[in-house]
Amino acid sequence: MTVLQLAMNKAKQSRCHYAVSAIGFDKHGKIVAVARNTPRSYPKFNKPGGNIHAELAVLRKGGKRIRSIVLCRVGKSGELKRIDPCKSCMRVLNKNEIKVLTLSEVIGDGNVTRR
Ligand SMILES: [Zn+2]
Repeated sequence: MTVLQLAMNKAKQSRCHYAVSAIGFDKHGKIVAVARNTPRSYPKFNKPGGNIHAELAVLRKGGKRIRSIVLCRVGKSGELKRIDPCKSCMRVLNKNEIKVLTLSEVIGDGNVTRR
């Protein structure tokens, strides 16, 4: 399975409005953890947008070994969609000096760019 397949399969498992996955890599570029965004399970957080973002879910799973991440979002038909970390996740990533890679940087596909 390629990194892209891994990321897309994981994102497709998401039950959130935006199906997003994140892959965390260590300093050698080895995959440490893969996670998808999840709706919160507590009723008080059960509002639109009140989910756990994939980038934080992957950090929770992989811990401090993660030095870089890549995000992947799939649409309703399973197609790739553009995705950027939100401001809140970006703060956490910056604070932990975790680099956000584009899918194209990871898979070498010039068609998929983050910005
Ligand atoms: Zn976020």
